[in-house]
Amino acid sequence: MTTVWWVRRDARLADNPALLAAQEDGPAAAVFVWNRGVHLWSGRRRAHLARVLWSLKEDIGGALGVRRGEAADAVLAIAREHDARVVVAAREGSPAGIGAQDAVASALAADGRELRLVGTPYAVAPGRVRKSDGSEYRVFTPFSHAWREHGWPSPAAHADPEAFVPVESDVDLDERAAHADAEDPLTARHEFREERVREAWEGYVDGPLARYAEERDRPDLDSTSHLSVPLAYGQIHPRTVLAATAAMPGEGPRKLEAELAWRDFHADVLFRHPRAQRESLTTVLPDDSWTTGRDADQAFMAWRDGRTGFPLVDAGMRELAATGTMHNRVRMVVASFLVKDLHLPWQRGADHFRRALLDYDHAQNQLNWQWVAGTGRDAAPFFRIFNPAAQASRYDPERRYIERWVAEVDTPAYPAPMVDHAAERAAALADHKRARAGA
Ligand code: FAD
Repeated sequence: MTTVWWVRRDARLADNPALLAAQEDGPAAAVFVWNRGVHLWSGRRRAHLARVLWSLKEDIGGALGVRRGEAADAVLAIAREHDARVVVAAREGSPAGIGAQDAVASALAADGRELRLVGTPYAVAPGRVRKSDGSEYRVFTPFSHAWREHGWPSPAAHADPEAFVPVESDVDLDERAAHADAEDPLTARHEFREERVREAWEGYVDGPLARYAEERDRPDLDSTSHLSVPLAYGQIHPRTVLAATAAMPGEGPRKLEAELAWRDFHADVLFRHPRAQRESLTTVLPDDSWTTGRDADQAFMAWRDGRTGFPLVDAGMRELAATGTMHNRVRMVVASFLVKDLHLPWQRGADHFRRALLDYDHAQNQLNWQWVAGTGRDAAPFFRIFNPAAQASRYDPERRYIERWVAEVDTPAYPAPMVDHAAERAAALADHKRARAGA
């Protein structure tokens, strides 16, 4: 009997419980739904997705079907075409992910079929880490202790690449992937084949991971794992990563585990508080403190285009535009600058990141923006305002990162700072004080 595997953020054969479940009673029919949401992504992100799917398709002998439309219609159509009573998929915890899986479940149930949710893209499923009274952890450190204690299953077996039935597609991946290569050679540096992602991770374990704790904040050094892109598309499961780090002594592996705990923490917060995707969880500024109108648009465009006159901010925004990623330390600096120096709402920055980031992950993006803005669960206190010049001296001491992205930084062509950081910092703190007095 054929079972449908609805591919979501889990385009891989290794350690994939949903896929293993779909292959339990015979070959699976694999389908990815290229829905309307994908059309809102940047061309670069869509192209990377096309390459990831192209690679998965190749790995399973061309059997993957990629269908246009909404998940409920497309998955039901495949289930009917293949006479499948059961569809298996990984469980999502974001509002859109839950919406899609509920819609698919209802469409299938109305047709006498069933959706089974098996596994998640996280080490521990959102909502599972709780205090003894069942309530949520509001602070990261106790969450991370409970997360470690909860533990996670060992990586599951490798799926059978031959146990698939061919599914017809109406999206041409060859064309989309090839188009992307020609158009955007810089992003071709991101690995899109599952096997190479794993090899890159193994190389990282044998090399830079040992230096990760000391160097992870340095954008001028290439010491971070670059796992965020494959994690976002599910070409590697965090459990696979944690199984490798668990066997290693030292600060580097412990620090990387802590970062994966942050990933699960943010997913947990979004799962428990769906409104956090758009609304601040805590109010830290009065409504009248934001820059508005034309000034806001001009400030936003200077930030977006890397023309603020603050070299570290501009380097980060240009790295994002050129590659679709940005170093974590620099993400914090540019986000703080948008909210606390330009007085623009975090949602505006988060929307830009959504369009531009290759590693876009709804929970990580929205909740990291809230962390920097001081509005999230266990966020940085509002008064922690990054000083872009001090951050640059500390984390890019020889200005190698800045010079890589802002070649004209020491020439008259480079703009003067668009604001006075000290004055904007004081204004933000005064606004915050007003909000607290009114609270
Ligand atoms: P490493 O330092 O090697 O970390 C290993 C893994 O741990 C990462 O791949 C990621 O999965 C996780 N991780 C690391 N830092 C964080 C963090 N602060 N929060 C949650 N998980 C973390 N990450 C995304 O994956 N997608 C996003 O859309 C995203 N948006 C962000 C927006 C802002 C404003 C900020 C400040 C951070 C954002 N991050 C996001 C988190 C972080 O910047 C990236 O995960 C990291 O830079 C990716 O590089 P890496 O894989 O080499 O990280």
